[in-house]
Amino acid sequence: MKINSILDKALEGGELSAQEGAVLFTARKEDFQRLIVVSDELRQRRVGDRVGYVINRNVNFTNVCVKRCGFCAFSRGHAAGEGYFLPVEEILRRIGEALELGGTEVCIQAGLPPGIDGTFYIELCRTIKKSFPGIHVHAFSPEEVLYGATLSHRSVEDYLKALLDAGLGSMPGTSAEILDDGIRERISPGRISTSNWVRVVRSAHRLGIPTTSTIMYGHVETGLDRARHLALLRTIQQETGKITELVPLSFVAAEAPMTKKSLIAGIQKEAAREDVLRMYAVARLMLNEWIPNIQASWVKQGPSLAQDCLRAGANDFGGTLMNESISTSAGATHGQFLHPSQIRSIIRSAGRTPYQRSTSYGVLRVFESEPDVPEPAWKNEQFGSYHELIASPDYRFRNRGSFVQLH
Ligand code: SF4
Repeated sequence: MKINSILDKALEGGELSAQEGAVLFTARKEDFQRLIVVSDELRQRRVGDRVGYVINRNVNFTNVCVKRCGFCAFSRGHAAGEGYFLPVEEILRRIGEALELGGTEVCIQAGLPPGIDGTFYIELCRTIKKSFPGIHVHAFSPEEVLYGATLSHRSVEDYLKALLDAGLGSMPGTSAEILDDGIRERISPGRISTSNWVRVVRSAHRLGIPTTSTIMYGHVETGLDRARHLALLRTIQQETGKITELVPLSFVAAEAPMTKKSLIAGIQKEAAREDVLRMYAVARLMLNEWIPNIQASWVKQGPSLAQDCLRAGANDFGGTLMNESISTSAGATHGQFLHPSQIRSIIRSAGRTPYQRSTSYGVLRVFESEPDVPEPAWKNEQFGSYHELIASPDYRFRNRGSFVQLH
């Protein structure tokens, strides 16, 4: 298969197979340049020149987890000194602060803490919506939903219905990494299986709960593994139409246990710039018709490379975050928030028009120019950092008996 003929097929609107996607992942030099140009052309045709962002806050309410994924530097054991568990008052305080700063979404994901009641996620969602009815709760990975359902002896469908009743707005399509059990077994033994991930996501979509989708790349997978993963996401989307976006997440190797402890042979040392751009471009070519929104991840790539991704198929810049723990713990050094004005400046420098969006890609405000009255500045101190949190004596998981719990 020639790369040029695959690019022509994509330009004509043809649906690329996983095998064709795998060939595109081999594109180098002039082929690579052509791939990027085609991805930019398809993005322009499909979604135009606007680039979205959302004002959101991440709340990773605990880092204590019963699993030990090889790529995860975030999790701690239940007795670890650095294990924390935010009480509900602190979770609500953080959300209230985000709302005052213009936030429209809270994104909640965490470890899988031992000893919680199975209804914990449902009650947390209900409590948040009771306190802040206007906030969009984007929460709980398929792995967390399965954990909650298992602990409460309910079917996944029943559990999702209860989350929906409690006010869940959408789910992150994380815990996907590469949807191939052989790879999952190598990088994260015990992780949610491919079939269970698909089952949870399909069930959510059937109930009307949208999800994002993700791919974590740049570790042990091949180009064909990536392309098959994209093809599987496309198949789900063709059935349900409830995937809002794809977020490619490059593996952050620095602090990952499987890198530090040399647990796995053949592991790559993070995706290089060209590989990041190739990932975005191939995703655009394979998904363009079905999943039009592809998000650049500034927290993984840094603002500069994330900006380059806007020329390789991406049309979204993600969220402001305010707090970031998972990539930071893995060794990412790009900070924990971007102010909306910084995001808009990056988008404008790429020659595109920024717009603030809702979680579900509704247009809230298009910024043809900067507002006359600038928004107040944000400071790191006001959000508190991940490293302070794990070093602080406050909120220790092993002392959690003193916290006000939801159950
Ligand atoms: S990736 Fe999630 S499930 Fe795996 S160890 Fe980390 S927190 Fe736990």
